[in-house]
Amino acid sequence: YMAKEARSGVEFYVAERDRNSPERLSLLGDLRRAIDGAELDLHYQPKVALQDGRVEGVEALLRWWHPVRGPVSPGEFIPLAEQSYLMRELTQYVIAKALDQAARWWHSGLEIPISVNVSARDLLDSGLPDQLSAGLARYSLPANAIHLEVTERILMTDQAYSADTIRTLAALGVPLALDDFGTGYSTLVRLQRLQVDEVKIDASFVRKLGESADDERIVRSIIDLVRSLGLRAVAEGVESADIAAQLRGMGCHAGQGWWLAEPMPAEEAVVWLRSRLRLPMATSRVD
Ligand code: C2E
Ligand code: MG
Ligand code: MG
Ligand code: MG
Repeated sequence: YMAKEARSGVEFYVAERDRNSPERLSLLGDLRRAIDGAELDLHYQPKVALQDGRVEGVEALLRWWHPVRGPVSPGEFIPLAEQSYLMRELTQYVIAKALDQAARWWHSGLEIPISVNVSARDLLDSGLPDQLSAGLARYSLPANAIHLEVTERILMTDQAYSADTIRTLAALGVPLALDDFGTGYSTLVRLQRLQVDEVKIDASFVRKLGESADDERIVRSIIDLVRSLGLRAVAEGVESADIAAQLRGMGCHAGQGWWLAEPMPAEEAVVWLRSRLRLPMATSRVD
């Protein structure tokens, strides 16, 4: 457990140290321009109930196709954006795009919630709940058409402000998941106080289930903890049938991962979703 914490600590340190390097600044400039252009897109990864295979929702994951570099991973550009005012614009873009997609799907009978990742900084933005409620109303969508995911690390900083926004979102009825659980430092008390509905167990623990007895113990105890608080446990990084079976045995509610389904562009996701839900294909084009 310590090793994992140390590992993410190291990544954070490297990102901090290099925050003003010319390469990072130029990437940030490119990202600023990309927000208004066609280089950004959302892919959608299904979240699947482990007991019966039911599709519970999809997670929207940002994709950037840089004109020179090709694909740039969100693992690279999100931390960069988080250190600047750009994160707010990026989140607004993602929420607008997810709402638009949700409207197309929900109004064609595909009532699949879309989960959007937001960063700690977004929770300091009191405009976020307003943007969401206005967007949901404009598209005539129920509050649970959009879910939010925030990483566990938000618990560490700016707790009071985040708690305000989280309360407003909960009052709106927008479900909230705590992402990357196990990589931060939450205590049981904090977890209980936060109004989250779902806890997503970080892929770094899940991927080695079956190989590492330590990871197995960690995942099992997280699932027990989450269930005992009356919350839903979702595993990230389900890369094999064996891992899915183990998680099911441990009472984990749902999973995401390459073995279940990869993140897909909207037009592929809709085909996947319709085939899984065995709904008749819409007569009008839906993407
Ligand atoms: P996350 O929210 O924890 O998303 C899960 C990540 O795991 C995604 O990486 C997904 O592609 C990847 N993944 C899915 N299945 C598997 C699997 O079976 N094994 C493994 N090892 N990985 C799997 P991705 O798309 O590269 O995104 C990385 C992170 O970037 C996300 O982690 C999230 O924190 C952040 N991110 C992505 N899109 C957005 C966004 O629109 N807004 C914000 N604020 N953050 C975003
Ligand atoms: Mg997430
Ligand atoms: Mg995660
Ligand atoms: Mg992550």
